[in-house]
Amino acid sequence: MSSWHDRAATCRRPSAPFVGGATVAPLTDATFDSIGPRDGEVVATLPACGQQDVDRAVAAARAAFTDGRWREMAPSARKVVLHRFADLVEASADELALLETLDTGKPIGDTTSVDAPGAATTLRWYAEACDKVYGEVAPTGPDALATITREPMGVVAAIVPWNYPMIIAAWKLGPALATGNSVVIKPAEQSPMATIRLAELGHEAGLPPGVFNVLPGEGATGAALAEHPDVDKVTFTGSTATGRKVLAAAAGSNLKSVSLELGGKSPQVVFADAPDLDEAAETIAWGIFYNQGQTCHAGSRLIVEDAVADRVIAKVVEVARGLVPGDPLDEATQLGALVSREQYDRVVGYLDLANDEGAQLTLGGGSADPVAGGCYLEPTVLDRVGDDMRIAREEIFGPVLVVQRFDGSEAEALRLANGTVYGLAGAVWSADHGRAERVAAGIRAGAVYVNCFDVGDVTAPHGGFGASGFGGRDKSLHALEQYTELKTTWRQH
Ligand code: NDP
Repeated sequence: MSSWHDRAATCRRPSAPFVGGATVAPLTDATFDSIGPRDGEVVATLPACGQQDVDRAVAAARAAFTDGRWREMAPSARKVVLHRFADLVEASADELALLETLDTGKPIGDTTSVDAPGAATTLRWYAEACDKVYGEVAPTGPDALATITREPMGVVAAIVPWNYPMIIAAWKLGPALATGNSVVIKPAEQSPMATIRLAELGHEAGLPPGVFNVLPGEGATGAALAEHPDVDKVTFTGSTATGRKVLAAAAGSNLKSVSLELGGKSPQVVFADAPDLDEAAETIAWGIFYNQGQTCHAGSRLIVEDAVADRVIAKVVEVARGLVPGDPLDEATQLGALVSREQYDRVVGYLDLANDEGAQLTLGGGSADPVAGGCYLEPTVLDRVGDDMRIAREEIFGPVLVVQRFDGSEAEALRLANGTVYGLAGAVWSADHGRAERVAAGIRAGAVYVNCFDVGDVTAPHGGFGASGFGGRDKSLHALEQYTELKTTWRQH
């Protein structure tokens, strides 16, 4: 057994709510089991936090906001605390990575190299932002002075999904805390442990009590936050269906501000004149299969010019064959488990649908069994997919690439690329600079890549058009806009 298996057997598994600066007993008797997709065993049993727990956490967050224990701290002092928080996340990276792998089935090599360091980097970047962002003076003329400042919103509820639990939590925590808000996070029921540990580390770093609270729970916990009259802001990442419910809850309660990031069906448009077709195919394969395809901006549609389609698909298949599902606790594993039996069944349902719709199965489609009882799927490539098929339009959220071929015209490429309700990301591959720029401009998405995919870091915004969401962006300085209200103060001379 590797050291990761030994550590998994003995590690502490955080499972209690963290409220008001401490681990607290839940106010509910209801519990749920978090099932590890690696082997189907129970990872932890957690409280299904109910209305009373939500009320208590929101009250703790409100108290912290009202008395200004964080909001009124000098930005430079908040910066020191957030840097310390990032330091502690870095120092605890292995522990956090292991919790994330046990919860989600992600390969330990990814959680140690991407998820945990990514969370630390994000917190550090927003730590630096604390005392670097200025207000404005309106150009009113000499008779008046109007200053425009950004005020924290108050109590922020962050409802996060299971595909990148720690990183997405950090995307929301960083800017919300940097701007002086109090936060209550509701992690997905599949992946609560690392987020609870983050709250402990934040408190150890010096976040005042009540500034960062975590409530493990099920959908009802998220719904109670979205409906709560004393929550000022909900920032949500997850499915379009749940996003709609969050929006309706906000409208039906106190008209709280809402930001939604809701996934996608991102196109990879490959023209025959792509600078390096093999390199493009390799990037395209990783762009869909990384994280078992459970990435909101995954390049899940290959739109490829007929003339080179066979060659590009063959190379994608070659790369995919090398991605054999393995034990997430094995450092050599590149493809782990899907997050849950439910998600596995959902993806398999789409594979059945692909068969019914007449798509051609070029690779994969089967389950794998590196660890008995786990949720493993082979990388799958579906060719000859028509734009009217549901598998071409709906988010599958698994290791499944659908291929649509086109005749080489830019208009047709764009028609297909923009042929879904989503608009999170897209890519164009062409050595013709003018064409690449025209197609990049024509793709309706929050991020477009030219001859590359999935580059980028915390400095650039993340979010989408259309059914991919609205209400602000994660990452970059633009994320600060999600968590602040503009305030104008007038002085008449
Ligand atoms: P959900 O959108 O249901 O879950 C996201 C978060 O919302 C979780 O914390 C969830 O809690 C919470 N939640 C559930 N119901 C409510 C509610 N009524 N009000 C407020 N919060 C709620 O996603 P699923 O886990 O059901 O995944 C389904 C599909 O969503 C996937 O197959 C994928 O297509 C898409 N998805 C997209 C993601 C993205 O990054 N854009 C991320 C995850 C999923 P709980 O876990 O307890 O249900």
